[in-house]
Amino acid sequence: MPEELTTYQGKATMEKITSLAKRRGFVFQSSEIYGGQNGAWDYGPLGVELKNRIAQYWWKEMTQLHDDIVGLDAAILMHPRTWEASGHVENFTDPLVDCKQCKARFRADQIPPERLAAKTCPECGGELTDTRKFNLMFKTHIGPAEDTAGLIYLRPETAQGIYVNYKNIIQSNRMKIPFGIAQTGKAFRNEIVTKNFIFRTCEFEQMEMQFFVKPGTDEEWFEEWKRRRWAYYEKMGVKTDHLRWHRHGPDELAHYAKDAYDIEYLFPMGWRELEGVHNRSDYDLSRHSEYSGKDLQYIDQDHNNERCIPFIIETSAGLTRTLLMLLCDAYDEEQVSGKEGAGGEEEDRRTVLRFHPNLAPVTVAVLPLMRKDGLAELAQAVREELKEDFSTGYDQSGAIGRRYRRQDEAGTPFCVTIDYESKENGSVTLRFRDSMEQVRLPRSALAERLRREIKDYRRLK
Ligand code: ATP
Repeated sequence: MPEELTTYQGKATMEKITSLAKRRGFVFQSSEIYGGQNGAWDYGPLGVELKNRIAQYWWKEMTQLHDDIVGLDAAILMHPRTWEASGHVENFTDPLVDCKQCKARFRADQIPPERLAAKTCPECGGELTDTRKFNLMFKTHIGPAEDTAGLIYLRPETAQGIYVNYKNIIQSNRMKIPFGIAQTGKAFRNEIVTKNFIFRTCEFEQMEMQFFVKPGTDEEWFEEWKRRRWAYYEKMGVKTDHLRWHRHGPDELAHYAKDAYDIEYLFPMGWRELEGVHNRSDYDLSRHSEYSGKDLQYIDQDHNNERCIPFIIETSAGLTRTLLMLLCDAYDEEQVSGKEGAGGEEEDRRTVLRFHPNLAPVTVAVLPLMRKDGLAELAQAVREELKEDFSTGYDQSGAIGRRYRRQDEAGTPFCVTIDYESKENGSVTLRFRDSMEQVRLPRSALAERLRREIKDYRRLK
C-alpha cells in the first residue's frame, strides 16, 4: 500500500472552485439577488449537465449493470410515522451550543473539548449555553391548519422510501433475496454549519442503494459492496491516492449499524466523507414491521417457505457532494507556452477541468475557425451530425486559442475545428483537451473516432 497522503496535492482551492463554478455557470448561490439563501445552491447550465451525468453514471452502474437491482423514485413527503420507526425523530440530532455574547452557533462536537468544558466561545471568548440536542429534520405542515395533526417532514435521506416499498417491489417484480433497490433524489437537513461551498448543504441530493440479504450472509455482502464501490470510483477515473477508507469506531457507529465504512476523498480542506457503506442489520425492516403492524418478513419459496427479516447493506453517496469532488479532482492549471498558439494572443497559462469524457457536461465542441466564408454553416452542419449521439457545444466568437481555453475550463474533452481545408476536402481537426494535440481526419470518421476515444480514455495526470 502506498503511504497515505496527509495534505491535499492538487491545484484547486475552495475559492478557485467556487469562483470557477460561478463564472462558468456550474453553480450559483440560491436567490443571490436577495443576498443568497444559506445552505442552498442552484445548478446552472454546465452544472445541471454534470449533475445529470453523474446521476446517470451511478444509475447505470447500480441498476443496468446488475440484474438483481431495480430502481425506485419515492416521494419526498412520507407518513410521519416513518421517521419515528427509523429513529430519526429521536436520534437524528446534532449537539448545539450558542455563544451568549456574539450569538455564534456551533456544533458541540466541532469545537475544542477544553473550550466546551470551560463553556467559552472559540470565537470571542464569551460564555456558551449548555449543549442541547437539535433535530436536523425540516418540519412543515400538510393541509390548511398549522397544527400537529398536519405535521410532516422533508425527508432527510432517501433510504426510508426504499424500506417502505420493499414489500411492494418483492410482490410486483418477483424479486428474490439477495436483491437491491436503487434511488436518487433530494434530501433535506437543517445543518448548523454549511461552509465549504456545496459540501454540506441543507438541500442536497443522494444516490442510495439498499441491498437486502439473508441474515448470516451480510458480512460477505458487506465486503463485496465495499469492493464494488471502490471500483466504481476507480472506473470514474478519479485520483485514487485521494481516496481512502475510514471505518466507524464504536462512538461513531449509528444506532442501526452493525458495521460502517466511509469512502473519504482528500478535498482541499482535508479528508472528508464522500459515501457511506453500511451494514444496517435487520434494524430497518424490523422497526417498520413494528411501527406499521405489517409483516415485512421475507418468505423463501425456494427453501420450504423459511421466513426471515433480511439484513440490509447500504451504499449511500451524495450526488451534489460527488459533483464538488469531481470539480476538485478534475481541476488543473498549467503552463502552455511552446504548445498551442504560443506567441499568439493566448495567455500562456490555462485552467483545465480534466473530467472523464463520460461525465463532462459537453463532450465535443465544434468551432469554426472563421465565421465567414461558409465556415460557420459548415460547423453547424457538423454539430448537427453529432447531436444525436453526443452532448455538443458550439462557439464561434473570439480567437481560436481563447475558445480552446474556454472549453478547457468547462472540461470539454474534445474540440472539432472547421477551417478552409474542411471546405475543400471534408476533413476536420480533432483537438484533445488533455494533451492539446490535434489530428486531422475525414468528417465521416469523426463520430466513430470520438466513440473510441471515449471508451479508451485514460487520464494523463
Ligand atoms: P455527516 O456525519 O457528515 O453529517 P452523515 O454521516 O450523516 O454525514 P449520511 O447520512 O451517511 O451522512 O449520508 C450519506 C451521504 O449523503 C454522505 O456521504 C454525503 O455524501 C451525503 N450528505 C449527507 N449530508 C449531506 C449534506 N448536508 N450536504 C450534502 N451532502 C450530504
